[in-house]
Amino acid sequence: MGQLSHYFYELIHQNRLVHGYVFTGDDYESKEHVSTELIKALGCLNKDGVGQPCGVCEHCQKAQNHQLADVVSIQPDGQSIRVNQIRELKEWLSTSPIESNFKLAIIESAETMNPSSANALLTFLEEPVEGVYLVLYTQDKSNLLPTIQSRVQGVHFPRANVSERVAYYIETGVSEAHARIFGKMSSETAQRLVSDYEEADVTNWFKALNYFYSTLAHGNLHAVILVQTQLKNSLSVQQALDGMDYLLILNHSMLRILSNTEIENLTQAYFINEVIKTKQPSLAHILELNDLILETKQRLQANVAPQLATERLAILASQ
Ligand SMILES: [Zn+2]
Repeated sequence: MGQLSHYFYELIHQNRLVHGYVFTGDDYESKEHVSTELIKALGCLNKDGVGQPCGVCEHCQKAQNHQLADVVSIQPDGQSIRVNQIRELKEWLSTSPIESNFKLAIIESAETMNPSSANALLTFLEEPVEGVYLVLYTQDKSNLLPTIQSRVQGVHFPRANVSERVAYYIETGVSEAHARIFGKMSSETAQRLVSDYEEADVTNWFKALNYFYSTLAHGNLHAVILVQTQLKNSLSVQQALDGMDYLLILNHSMLRILSNTEIENLTQAYFINEVIKTKQPSLAHILELNDLILETKQRLQANVAPQLATERLAILASQ
């Protein structure tokens, strides 16, 4: 991570930064870290002899706190980056910077640009503007249209190992128990949960999902009522998807315990053992539940209303 930051300090120092980058790989935290360092280095007036930003001037502080008016970050609106988001971005990029001498846009989950969004972006990449930079995030460069791939320079961020990620979450203020669970989620999901983390909210959310999971494992139709009561307030598309990831982790623990394959480091092992004792789910039912949860994720990704998709899961699990 440090090495990559220095690579960018040097590029900027030597005036060799190009206009478009794609950050690939699964290590979202490092992508964020390196983009922030890149932004600091672009505007810091107190850089040292090798181009490293000072970290303490007003520009560096604002960059660190994501408060620069000349930097934007685009995320998918629902499941995709829409063409009007890219059009608005291009319009924004075409205006002069307000407080810096550059403009920079980060496009997260760039693979979710549909062809018209990607084409709208392409015209910018074909005729780059002085002092304007784009950084795309995606897992794999091949997820982007070939025309885009050829106009951005790739920098790879391999997946950080789980213990590094967990340590990083704890460092940013996440409780150890939650950090261990986040470490089992994809780094993008985890980063989202970390970015507006409130310990009590996450505890309550996991509690509601645990209760929901125990009724699913039991095959009890009461799960439908839980969707309409306890889960109702955490059913935005994104939160429903994140919730499904959590259910998959619980189900994974359940599968491991029921099949006696591995009992080290399981998430919520105590809770899962209680569910086994009181609800006695069969291995076949838990295997089926795995498919049902994955199917629910697909439905959510296809924009089925979260409450409907989750109720359907509850109904099918009880049959
Ligand atoms: Zn500075």
